[in-house]
Amino acid sequence: MKIAFIGLGNMGAPMASNLSQAGHDLVGYDAAGVTVEGVSVATSGAAAADGADVVITMLPNGAILRAVADEVVPAMKDGALLLDCSTVDVDSARHVAKQAEAAGKMAVDAPVSGGIGGAAGGTLTFMAGGSAKAFALAEPLFDIMGQKAVHCGEAGAGQAAKICNNMVLGVTMAATCEAFALADKLGLDRQKMFDVVSTSSGYSWSMNAYCPAPGVGPTSPADNGYQPGFAAELMLKDLRLSQQAAESADADTPMGQLAEQLYSQFVDHEDGKGRDFSALLPRFEKRSRG
Ligand code: NAD
Repeated sequence: MKIAFIGLGNMGAPMASNLSQAGHDLVGYDAAGVTVEGVSVATSGAAAADGADVVITMLPNGAILRAVADEVVPAMKDGALLLDCSTVDVDSARHVAKQAEAAGKMAVDAPVSGGIGGAAGGTLTFMAGGSAKAFALAEPLFDIMGQKAVHCGEAGAGQAAKICNNMVLGVTMAATCEAFALADKLGLDRQKMFDVVSTSSGYSWSMNAYCPAPGVGPTSPADNGYQPGFAAELMLKDLRLSQQAAESADADTPMGQLAEQLYSQFVDHEDGKGRDFSALLPRFEKRSRG
């Protein structure tokens, strides 16, 4: 397939590289002039999209995605697929899908989980929204860039699944961290706390697979000085998207809202930026109730 890849950052560059190594014909464009081995360089997004069977975007946010789509959709050939793998707001995903379909093209929103390691190793999970026909076209590419793709529904369903999942993650990580800090103050050994909660009804991925306490549970960013992993500012981005969606859909999400406020405080006003999202534990450790 001829594939245009727009946005060759931390995630996009290794994803494009994996597609090229699998034998596809890749042409790339990044506003910062990034180049990737095996990917020929276009002078603009539209030039990259010209003649491509699939245009993949991996961009920072919905506003940039909309601007890129305005330029790229008219340049795409009829029936070509716009495959957006960025994490953006649900409304932008739906807007861009509508725009592509009105112009005779197809669209899938397919945000990922798995981070930079998953992008490099081709082990990402894709959560996809779009028609069955468009999903089927994207599927062989998901198989190269990832290990699992779930077709979640129509346009925007991939983004919806991603932000709902990450809202659960933000809330459970915050709860797990504050519970460890409470346990400390109650004189409860952290290992004992882990042994009980990880096998009782308080268990979760945050506790069992990504334990925020150093030296306890499986190896996690806590064992590496809280180097990300999954950076607190990326969690904040996803929590903000969840609250934007909740606002737009008139959904009551008080725990998600609190988690957003907490991560915003941590990233914007404390030392959370650049640290793993599980570094809320040392934050709580240092604090008292007032
Ligand atoms: P990044 O900032 O490293 O890459 C984004 C790239 O887009 C940059 O290289 C930038 O120059 C380019 N860009 C910006 N505007 C452009 C334009 N108009 N035209 C062409 N290129 C443009 O970000 P990333 O970490 O690669 O993340 C990309 C997306 O994936 C984001 O939506 C992010 O939320 C999501 N995501 C990231 C991770 C992660 O661990 N990094 C995990 C899951 C999802």
